[in-house]
Amino acid sequence: MSAQPVSQRRREWCPGVRRPMATGDGLLVRLHPFAGRLTADQARLIAAAAREHGNSYLDITARGNLQIRGVSDETYPELLAILDREGLTEPEGDGPNRLVAVSPLAGHDPRDRFDALVLAKAIESAGAALEGLPAKFFVAVDGGGSMPLDAIGADLHLVAGEDGTVAFSVPSSGALLGIGAASLSDAPDAARTILAGFAEMKRGGRTEARRLRDLQPHLVQELVAPAALEPVAAMPRRSAAPRAGAIAITGGHAVLLALPFGRCGTEQLVQVAQWSERFGTGEIRLSFTRGILLPGIADEHLSTLLAEASHAGFITDANDSRLSLIACPGKPDCASALTPAPADALRLAGACGDLLAQGANLHVSGCPKGCAHPGKADLTLVGRDDGRYDVVPHGSTRDVSSLHLSIDEIMTRLLPAKTSADLRRAFPERTR
Ligand code: SF4
Repeated sequence: MSAQPVSQRRREWCPGVRRPMATGDGLLVRLHPFAGRLTADQARLIAAAAREHGNSYLDITARGNLQIRGVSDETYPELLAILDREGLTEPEGDGPNRLVAVSPLAGHDPRDRFDALVLAKAIESAGAALEGLPAKFFVAVDGGGSMPLDAIGADLHLVAGEDGTVAFSVPSSGALLGIGAASLSDAPDAARTILAGFAEMKRGGRTEARRLRDLQPHLVQELVAPAALEPVAAMPRRSAAPRAGAIAITGGHAVLLALPFGRCGTEQLVQVAQWSERFGTGEIRLSFTRGILLPGIADEHLSTLLAEASHAGFITDANDSRLSLIACPGKPDCASALTPAPADALRLAGACGDLLAQGANLHVSGCPKGCAHPGKADLTLVGRDDGRYDVVPHGSTRDVSSLHLSIDEIMTRLLPAKTSADLRRAFPERTR
């Protein structure tokens, strides 16, 4: 075994609790609770552990996971022991830390056409024994309700169809490509067949792709054929998932508390735990929108909860322009970062408040990995090693841009922009 400290050995992998990752502010320890669910006691325990063994900053990720930041080689072993005792560690091995992602409303959403939690559990256990799935591989299980998972960046999407079937799709050229449908009872086996086929391709060295979106189309077809899916109808477009505020559910409301850039302090997490017990059911759901959802809030508690949460620094208004800003931790918190993404995002917000108020979204990424947002944005800025940004209008960090500007140059161009059309005019150069 190498005598190298954890912080020097573990860069560039998909972090978990057993597999922390070195970043600019120390080790990052990522928790992957099933369905993003935590009890109030678990939230308090995590907050205390992050305070004692990390730097008191937590992030909620774009997959609805929770990461503790600023852990050191010295404090990590005790943190691992605490989280392990609480059952908050991921499985051993090099596979996915969590195979499925669901809406934080799963099980509570009256618009869902099936219980996504039940199907998600079946797929999680069907995939558990597979060897060879890459660590970042994951499956979105979407009941068809109020919080679509279309933009979450999963390898395989299973969505409830209007006819009672489960529609399967894979990402292709920045969109989702329908590959077939199965009955609800057949869906876990069909998903397992596709997953097993991909794992087999990886083990056999037939592809270097770590994500299905990077697999050649003929290999995708080869994977799908043995799953014997039925033809699938085109899925109707749904409104984007709400990002903050009260959401009507059966018997009351859920409240989605958003956090600027998904960053949460330990005191805020403790407050969430208290609110969940005072006003709700004691259950906490981490959301892929980079916020925290509290289900089961009675009508008479809504205004008090929203007021207290707003006072505590949460975003509770779905129209808050900060919701249109996306940024990863950037410099100095991430060792891979080439630019200070959150600070630059806030500077840009000052320059284009009108544009954000119109609903345009802006993604500032400290490097091309795009951790904070795998999908497209109205304007995506990708940090470069010369400190400037690759500018990608109406695209994602995966798109190539030939336009490289400093943050000051970008701000100057954005100042007059008030609408989406102005945004196009601000960056007329050809990007490819
Ligand atoms: S996208 Fe941001 S958080 Fe992710 S590796 Fe790059 S700089 Fe770090």
